Amino acid sequence: MRISAKYFANGQPYALQFEQGRIAELKTTTADPSLWFAPAFFDPQINGCLGHNFSSASTKPEGFAAIIAECQRHGIGSFFPTVITGSQETILAAFKNLTRAVATVPEWSTVWPGYHLEGPYVSGAKGARGAHPAEWVRDPDWNEFKKFQDAAAGRIRMVTVAPERTGALKFIEKLTTQGVVVAIGHTCATSEQIAAAVDAGARTSTHLGNGCPAVLPRHPNMVWDQLAEDRLWASVIADGYHLPTSVLKTILRAKTLDRVFLTCDVGPLAGMSPGKYRDWDNDLEVLPDGRIMVASAPFLAGSGHFTDTCVNTLLTLGLSLHEAIDLASVRTRQLFDMPVPVVEVGNGGPWMLFEWSPGGIFRVDRIVDIVCVGLVGIDSEKRVNF
Ligand SMILES: [Zn+2]
Repeated sequence: MRISAKYFANGQPYALQFEQGRIAELKTTTADPSLWFAPAFFDPQINGCLGHNFSSASTKPEGFAAIIAECQRHGIGSFFPTVITGSQETILAAFKNLTRAVATVPEWSTVWPGYHLEGPYVSGAKGARGAHPAEWVRDPDWNEFKKFQDAAAGRIRMVTVAPERTGALKFIEKLTTQGVVVAIGHTCATSEQIAAAVDAGARTSTHLGNGCPAVLPRHPNMVWDQLAEDRLWASVIADGYHLPTSVLKTILRAKTLDRVFLTCDVGPLAGMSPGKYRDWDNDLEVLPDGRIMVASAPFLAGSGHFTDTCVNTLLTLGLSLHEAIDLASVRTRQLFDMPVPVVEVGNGGPWMLFEWSPGGIFRVDRIVDIVCVGLVGIDSEKRVNF
């Protein structure tokens, strides 16, 4: 496949040929193509979509394929399937299900370079736990985590923990020793507990500014403490609903663009028609604007919008195209020591083609990669193989 497209970082137009998803030829050109190209997004927190849920053991391979195809449609070339708080049996079964899926379709291990365990060792306080079921939040248990990691075939690469849980600091130390990235999230930790968690190895905050009680002491509180902690990175859900513009701008400035990254935190109900649903052991509601709420409560339950929407939010805030895509494609890979695609012959990305003009909307055209979703039941028009 031959195309001309401009590189997102500098606007340089290239004549490109892709073969099997890799750049086979690369020449600068004086043409002015309307298409752009960039590394596809890597999002470390995808819960599911279209009614399919990574936290459920009953999700079929066709469901996984549908999630991957839908994510690709929104520019997400790879991501961490995210399993949230549940009983030990449920979490074990969810990871075993993922392990079976990767064994069935080995290419999916490229799309899923790891998994994110968000919970169950998080706060049980209302608001702080968000949509995590109160019944199953608990203190960290290393032996239980080892069972989860075994069920996941060692592929859990990120764990979101509340530092105030009994035993959390030792747990964070052990995870860090094993190379698992620890995130602070769904927490009501004190200043001292946050500092101790970072000393123990915590690297980032999960969706900073969300997973909080609706009302906080003015100061100190866990949002200020995480904002001011320069050793912590932070993910933000910039879908236009999870954070008001003022909070988003404040996080971007306090963390700087070097230590912040985008996650869409898309939930299993994303892409579903408005209405009431039962999922994550909660009564949830999809609103007409796509928001997913805990029914009868002012709390969002994951996002109904994907990473491309978050990039558009950052562009609206005045970030450059280069900066906005960096936070979704480059920064996320850097945090997990994953290779960042570079423009050179042989590089397999995954690459993303998109349309954009200054002041306009960013719109994904397609993902170019070597991985085929590879199961029946998938709209073949959503997949482009070269
Ligand atoms: Zn969360």
